[in-house]
Amino acid sequence: MRSDRAADGAAEADKRQETGNAAAASPDRASNQPEMGGAVIGRRNLSPLIDKLCADHSLSLAEYEFLIANRTPEAARLLSERAAAVRKSIYGNTVYIRGLIEISNICRNDCLYCGIRKSNSNCSRYRLTPEEILSCANEGYALGFRTFVLQGGEDGYFNDTVLCGIVRRIKERHPDCAVTLSMGERSRESYKLLRDAGADRYLLRHETADKAHYEKLHPVQMSYDNRMRCLRDLRETGYQVGCGFMVGSPYQTPAELAKDLKFIENFRPDMCGIGPFIPHRDTPFGGFPAGTVELTCYLLSIIRLIRPPVLLPSTTALGTIHPTGREMGILSGANVIMPNLSPVSVRKKYELYNNKICTGEESAQCRADLERRMRAIGYEVVTARGDIRRDTRQRP
Ligand code: SAH
Repeated sequence: MRSDRAADGAAEADKRQETGNAAAASPDRASNQPEMGGAVIGRRNLSPLIDKLCADHSLSLAEYEFLIANRTPEAARLLSERAAAVRKSIYGNTVYIRGLIEISNICRNDCLYCGIRKSNSNCSRYRLTPEEILSCANEGYALGFRTFVLQGGEDGYFNDTVLCGIVRRIKERHPDCAVTLSMGERSRESYKLLRDAGADRYLLRHETADKAHYEKLHPVQMSYDNRMRCLRDLRETGYQVGCGFMVGSPYQTPAELAKDLKFIENFRPDMCGIGPFIPHRDTPFGGFPAGTVELTCYLLSIIRLIRPPVLLPSTTALGTIHPTGREMGILSGANVIMPNLSPVSVRKKYELYNNKICTGEESAQCRADLERRMRAIGYEVVTARGDIRRDTRQRP
């Protein structure tokens, strides 16, 4: 991994060289490559396909699948250099921070991968009061946060009246801040009320863009169609919307990932949260292996190239499976970090997966630690609200 500006310069030089080589290959032949079983220019030369992705921000499903199934360290390097350059041209070397407040781990759902699923009787449940949430936001504001992300299980206590009240209070107290919600599936009316109360953004990972795969990850009570309905409603209600998925979730293959990428290409989210699946011992998926840093970073780069202005977090899950996972995510094209602002007393309880990092640190410590980590790789944490760059939002 590159760790200073000098190394950055060296990588730039390498990139010029590689870009030259890539330009020499024929993109036409590359686009035929998947159908031709890779026989034309050799299975491991993915440069032409990467060129095509950079130029068109789009590949066919078969090409996405090929790019994933046949990935090589060289392809990963080329993708991450291209992604970092694109990201730099839009956001410079800045990293946006979002203060994550985990407001409740009480959930009516039973997602098979999630540690706070309803049936996990080993989970010790908690719910923050509106006052506690407000005080987390106030503390975050003093630390320079200008976006607060309220995330939680689907806890009936947070009905529209209660949640709208909290959003309103945060916006009244901190009008220069954005409020992001990540509270799961709700009705269109509910999304509208929350938007009217002042919520700016909503994160709802689609989890997988393949219906059959969705059904393997969720109980029968949950449906792919409703998830998609929610995402459409959120978009139409005027939110900046985030989708996303877990990398290496059970039963996921390059074919499912290709569908995720196609979905992102078509849906054109403002934000996209991806992180490795990490097993939680008290779930039906406790025995499945975790996703990898390598594939997560590879996909982060591809997503940046599909949708250059997207707000792309380097997630806590990535930092959990590798000590410098979040740095690697940023170097692969991510531009957002979401440190935890939840009270330390509840952090361990919001355990979506085992061994989650930063559960013992005070918010100020997390913030300082991240700033140091980002600076070490040549990036600067900024305290802007960090909205998506609207000027680059339209399709070229
Ligand atoms: N209830 C909200 C918030 C869910 S938690 C909602 O439905 O949107 C946020 C994300 O954590 C989920 O969307 C899921 O993709 C991720 N997650 C859950 N369990 C996980 C696990 N075991 N490993 C990695 N990520 C997980």
